[in-house]
Amino acid sequence: MNKNDAKELVNLLKNAYPDATCSLDFETPFQLVVAVMLSAQCTDERVNKTTPELFSRCKSIEDFANIDISELEKIIHPCGFYKNKAKNIKLCAKQVIENFNGVVPHSMEELTSLAGVGRKSANVIMLEVFGIAEGIAVDTHAKRISNLVGLSNKKEPEKIEQDLIKLFPKDALKDINHLLVWHGRNTCIARHPKCLECPINKFCNHFKTLKT
Ligand code: SF4
Repeated sequence: MNKNDAKELVNLLKNAYPDATCSLDFETPFQLVVAVMLSAQCTDERVNKTTPELFSRCKSIEDFANIDISELEKIIHPCGFYKNKAKNIKLCAKQVIENFNGVVPHSMEELTSLAGVGRKSANVIMLEVFGIAEGIAVDTHAKRISNLVGLSNKKEPEKIEQDLIKLFPKDALKDINHLLVWHGRNTCIARHPKCLECPINKFCNHFKTLKT
């Protein structure tokens, strides 16, 4: 896909999803770090049902660092992979306190030094907390759609991200992050894509096969 087509694709998605934004609930930067960790292999809806109890129990980063791990595991159990997630949440809280004076850092390098925070999570945190769109969080939706419409033919999220960064101007990256996720959730649903009503079907290789 060339840059002009990429620009048109973004505009079509913007028209279709004018309210596209982050759907995880949070009030503080560390709450978002936790919510993003919980969202791995879990829906944002499920995370948003779990975090009210957690955030009411852990009001500060120190509370996350000090909560008994079995209590934490019990609260976050519905989000899956709760043992690993609980371990990472506690360790991450300790690292933020000890290495960053209790303030969530805002650079990719610093964020990815934290337990349980990879490049995809760091992109989400930088964007939603600090308004920095340095890259694109390539999740399962962004990956599938990028391949379908020819934004990238790569399979690895890091390589897809680099292709997207080359295609779009920096000021569009914030929108791309949200738009691809919203398109994946609302229209390009993995098992039942709504191709006939898809606003970007003219770019889609799958749609072309349907028409032949
Ligand atoms: S045409 Fe269908 S498969 Fe292609 S991007 Fe749209 S919804 Fe997804």
